[in-house]
Amino acid sequence: MDIVKGNMGWIEVIVGPMFSGKSEELIRRLKRAEIARQRVQIFKPVIDQRYKHTDIVSHSGFELPSEVVTNAAEVFEKVQPRTEVVGIDEGQFLGEGLVDTCMRMADAGKRVIVTGLDTDYLGRPFDPMPRLLAVAEEITKLLAICVQCGNPAVHTQRLVASDDLIVVGAAGMYEPRCRRCFEPHLAHDRVEAKKNASSGVASFTPRPVTKSE
Ligand code: ADP
Ligand code: ZN
Repeated sequence: MDIVKGNMGWIEVIVGPMFSGKSEELIRRLKRAEIARQRVQIFKPVIDQRYKHTDIVSHSGFELPSEVVTNAAEVFEKVQPRTEVVGIDEGQFLGEGLVDTCMRMADAGKRVIVTGLDTDYLGRPFDPMPRLLAVAEEITKLLAICVQCGNPAVHTQRLVASDDLIVVGAAGMYEPRCRRCFEPHLAHDRVEAKKNASSGVASFTPRPVTKSE
């Protein structure tokens, strides 16, 4: 982006499914800001406890120290006036206040970089990320590789049985899948299969509906 006058803040959003490289890209941008001697602060939600408590860590092992917060308001409280670049990982877990917090920090002249899942385990827009995309200056959408067929993957497939919106987990609980291989009903079917198994009813997993049906 070409900035013509100083103290101009803005919002960059990096979205995509799990394993698409969002954390890696965030770490790359923040490391470059540090090389440029800019004052950087990095935040991540307390809910993301894979690997370490205080670092943002990519699946490939890149890491950067961060401050842990429970919601977006806490980011606003902890951000220092002198900070020039604010990085936020896993923004979808910071609640509805994320958009307002990012707007206020950008209005105050900061470069704000946020990563997050833009869709949930059913493939629906995952609030508040879609609203953040609407007010961002720059959007990067990354894709992973579908573990079933090798095509570009836009979806995060939940493999464990749960109908909850948020089930935190990493490898083994989720995998990236392309549009064709994505089975949004899989997690729900496994919940039903578990219920039936415990009530003595023979477990039955419905055949996935294919495009031609
Ligand atoms: P995100 O933050 O989007 O979950 P990360 O930055 O943590 O992603 O991890 C991205 C890295 O995960 C890739 O660079 C690659 O090394 C690794 N990886 C493992 N499985 C896959 C996959 N199926 N598709 C793409 N990358 C994968
Ligand atoms: Zn596929």
